[in-house]
Amino acid sequence: MSPYKLSGTTVVSFSGGRTSAYMLRQVLDNNDDLSDLVVTFANTGKEHPATLEFVQECAERWAVPIVWLEFRDDDAGFSVVDYATTSRQGEPFEALIRKRKYLPNPVTRFCTIDLKIRVIHKYLRSLGLSTEETPVDMMTGIRADEPRRVVKIRHRKSTSESKWATMVMPLADAGVGIQDVTDFWAAQPFDLTLPTINGRTLEGNCDLCFLKGAKQVYSIIASDRDELIRKGDWWARMESSVVSGGKFTGDGARFRSDRPSYQQMLDYSDTQFDMFADHDESIACFCGD
Ligand code: SF4
Repeated sequence: MSPYKLSGTTVVSFSGGRTSAYMLRQVLDNNDDLSDLVVTFANTGKEHPATLEFVQECAERWAVPIVWLEFRDDDAGFSVVDYATTSRQGEPFEALIRKRKYLPNPVTRFCTIDLKIRVIHKYLRSLGLSTEETPVDMMTGIRADEPRRVVKIRHRKSTSESKWATMVMPLADAGVGIQDVTDFWAAQPFDLTLPTINGRTLEGNCDLCFLKGAKQVYSIIASDRDELIRKGDWWARMESSVVSGGKFTGDGARFRSDRPSYQQMLDYSDTQFDMFADHDESIACFCGD
């Protein structure tokens, strides 16, 4: 049976990237009855505008409803938004940091969990679509050429959220690699139009995500330095305004302690490059491709 075939309520967690859009297209092509399909896009508020446009374009061109979700610090824990009303200045992410009173980091990646995974689960539970007795299938766009991520998902420990969903990875099961995805998009009449720097797309997921390599982050900061609103300003502001005991401490907290602060990167973006030579490997996470 096709790995894209639905068997009961199935959520396609659309990250806004090419790979997960490819997965969505395969699901649409391999199922006559889509009544069990829910497609979600969880926006952190720090996605690139091109990502938001791509999500909207997929929905319109493929005539598939995509539910836009955002974290809220209220009883529901989420809000359903749309392309017009979605946050574009990091508001959901900032609300989460204010609630937690500390910054996420490579070890404690609560942003992925709280801004994406939990938001999707809360939405499903609000509709009665996911229970412990009848967990949904959660399709995630992890490819066959990402073996470490595949193993991690297959062997992940049980969490408070995992009982509500069974993770499925149809791309990995179908043997789909990056070349398949690239070939697919080369033949489409539209595409994700994230800017490239030296031929590389750097700004997928949150624009200056702390899991990106230091050079990658710095390249974006440097390319952005003449903009009125620089992407790095938000990250620097979060680092300088972490709340402790209900007060802003300005204590120099960092998303990463093994590299310069975002403010330092902003300050030195004209001249410095060498200090980013190390620690340049990006770290993969649920936020996806
Ligand atoms: S892309 Fe990075 S910063 Fe954004 S939610 Fe995911 S891990 Fe956190």
